[in-house]
Amino acid sequence: MSLTTRILIGMMAGFLLGSVLHGLDLPDTHPIRAVFVDGFLDVGGKIFIASLKLLVVPLVFVSLVCGASNLSDGAAMGRVGGKALGLFLLTTAIAISLALLVSLTIKPGEGMSQEAPQSFEATEPPAFKDVVLDMFPTNPVAAMANGEMLQIIVFALLFGYAVAKSGAPGARIKAFFEDLNDVIMRLVVALIALAPYGVFCLMTTIFTALGWSEIGALAAYFFTVAGVLVLQLVVVYPLMFAALTRLSPMIFLRKMRAPMLFGFSTSSSSATLPVTLETVEQRIGVRNEVASFVVPLGATINMNGTAIMQGVATVFIAQYFNIALDLTDYVMVIVTATMAAIGTAGVPGVGLIMLTMVLQQVGLPVEGIMLIIGVDRLLDMARTIVNVAGDAMVATIVARSENKLDLERFADMNAGAELDN
Ligand code: ASP
Repeated sequence: MSLTTRILIGMMAGFLLGSVLHGLDLPDTHPIRAVFVDGFLDVGGKIFIASLKLLVVPLVFVSLVCGASNLSDGAAMGRVGGKALGLFLLTTAIAISLALLVSLTIKPGEGMSQEAPQSFEATEPPAFKDVVLDMFPTNPVAAMANGEMLQIIVFALLFGYAVAKSGAPGARIKAFFEDLNDVIMRLVVALIALAPYGVFCLMTTIFTALGWSEIGALAAYFFTVAGVLVLQLVVVYPLMFAALTRLSPMIFLRKMRAPMLFGFSTSSSSATLPVTLETVEQRIGVRNEVASFVVPLGATINMNGTAIMQGVATVFIAQYFNIALDLTDYVMVIVTATMAAIGTAGVPGVGLIMLTMVLQQVGLPVEGIMLIIGVDRLLDMARTIVNVAGDAMVATIVARSENKLDLERFADMNAGAELDN
């Protein structure tokens, strides 16, 4: 049985068991809840996520040092970074525009009975100046200790550049890092093999706590977000992928199944990062020098699914409160949501906090967030699939344009089989 099939089985079993337990509505003190779900399964799920996150910092650093030392000239690095940034912005802007367009047509918030929502404590978004300044580490060890992805990327790029320029000592360090990279990859593969169990634990705990009844009154909002996410994944991405790479988007999506399932069950692009990076390199064939740079950057700043939620939520909240927005407001939404998606670190639920930034920008009440919070956990899982697929797609497009995509590996459905078969 392939790994994706086994993950899917784990997922379905967790979903069914969780839904049954939710339906039974056992009290928190009941042994099945207290010992089995909140104890045993919760621990299993948390260890699974912890072991994925554990790999992120060493993997990104080591892999990017290898990548940057191969991409030794500054101009090539600048080009790869520039193309990736441009595509991140473009895909994010398309995602929000699509979200606005669809929700203005469907009008999910119109005619809802109005109750004043509970108050919402808005988190202050960081100033743009600080976001830029924060990219530059003063202490690389602190950056790694705190998992500051952008700082780690900057340090790894500089370090890799120096390795490439250092002659024989550089060559020795490079060989060491390449060996280290292989060893870490082994660890990723070993962990991926445990995924069906981890996913089962996660899904059971999530669905024991969460029911479908929360969707009730929010069905229009929920299905609008879900619908636009599907559109982005199965229409926008394949069209873009085919147009810009002249390769089959079907092969791309098939090979992305494992990271997408990881994204769904962990709700975190950054926890999924080791799987995305492995898949993009080993299965899709993007060379390490592009993948190790573009994929971690994307997991941190490129969040198309999150942007879609923000677009639909803005229209929904405006309609709910009967506040008319004009074209300039919508342009503001596109600009702010693009920036907000960039400012959203890849952890569960942050998208919602950044939504406050968008709402404040166009003068909508931030309390509106309380209206949609009930269904956000499920939507977070769904949008992380799109976030993860978007990062991998941009990496593949950039690699193709730089002649850094191994076409034989791309076409070979068995490439990197240990990650999926
Ligand atoms: N969970 C999302 C991610 O990590 C971010 C979000 O939308 O909150 O990709």
